[in-house]
Amino acid sequence: MKAILYEAFSQPPKLVTLPDPAPEPHGVVVRVGATGVCRSDWHGWVGHDPDIALPHVPGHELAGTIEAVGREVKRWTVGQRVTVPFVGGCGHCSECHAGHQQVCDHQFQPGFTHWGSFAEFVSIHRADLNLVALPESLDFATAASLGCRFVTSFRAVVDQGRVSAGEWVAVHGCGGVGLSAIMIAVASGANVVAVDISDRALGLARELGAAAVVNARQVEDVAGAVRDVTRGGAHVSIDALGSVVTCVNSINSLRKRGRHIQVGLMAGDHSLPPVPMGRVISHELEILGSHGMQAHRYGAMMAMIETGTLKPELLVGQRITLEQSIDALMGMDRFEGVGVTVVTKF
Ligand SMILES: [Zn+2]
Ligand SMILES: [Zn+2]
Repeated sequence: MKAILYEAFSQPPKLVTLPDPAPEPHGVVVRVGATGVCRSDWHGWVGHDPDIALPHVPGHELAGTIEAVGREVKRWTVGQRVTVPFVGGCGHCSECHAGHQQVCDHQFQPGFTHWGSFAEFVSIHRADLNLVALPESLDFATAASLGCRFVTSFRAVVDQGRVSAGEWVAVHGCGGVGLSAIMIAVASGANVVAVDISDRALGLARELGAAAVVNARQVEDVAGAVRDVTRGGAHVSIDALGSVVTCVNSINSLRKRGRHIQVGLMAGDHSLPPVPMGRVISHELEILGSHGMQAHRYGAMMAMIETGTLKPELLVGQRITLEQSIDALMGMDRFEGVGVTVVTKF
């Protein structure tokens, strides 16, 4: 198969030919129909993820068709259209037994713990637990864009943030994660204030229904601006970028008893933000994380997509070839594209 491979961190990946994968007894092999290019792929390539063993094939936001099925798999057959959450469960640990596969003790993460989907084929483990069937109406590019940023945002807003109609939600960073969170929060009936440094990204946020925007380059005090707009602070605030500045701004944007949700990865120099714990105590704030979403929670999200309440296709940006994914991956820290870049030609 054709695949993108890197043999050293921070060195340009190459388009190579590798042996086709065979399914694990409990897994399947998926012919990749589309795969998203994500900032987590960039973090992995730079060397921020200790799970990655070299040489490595990146890619974790995928959708495609089942090509081969392991002998123990009961629910799936060749030819079915599927996607997977970026964190798959083992099915045996206490977290999996409790239904929290997104924090499984023995995670399967294509593109991190195992080779990923920047390839014609990808091997997926524990298929009965981790695969999600795609509705016919959902194309591969849109489905691929769900697997990481959209589902993590869905879990952040709906399950972790417990956002209800009429609440104010602040979203810091309007890339793939942030725009997803805005769409989902608006669909949940919340009022959204979007924060970014790019007027173009803020324009998209407005189009997706943000009630207010703050350009972080144009105000002295971003959190203060959010507290003004929301008359006292957001009920829920999301750091959708993952940086010291956006994390602290997000916490300071909250009203009393508000919930901060960390979605953007805090890697490298940003791994230890100076969280204002005094404020967390005096305002009784909650600080929560969101780490993907379990396959069994996809049903609620898919229903909102099928009825048109959520329109993830609006977040798909550039469609590129497998070869072009090399440049897209290496440039992910430059924030050039708007929306989610998806590989659709292999
Ligand atoms: Zn598990
Ligand atoms: Zn991702």
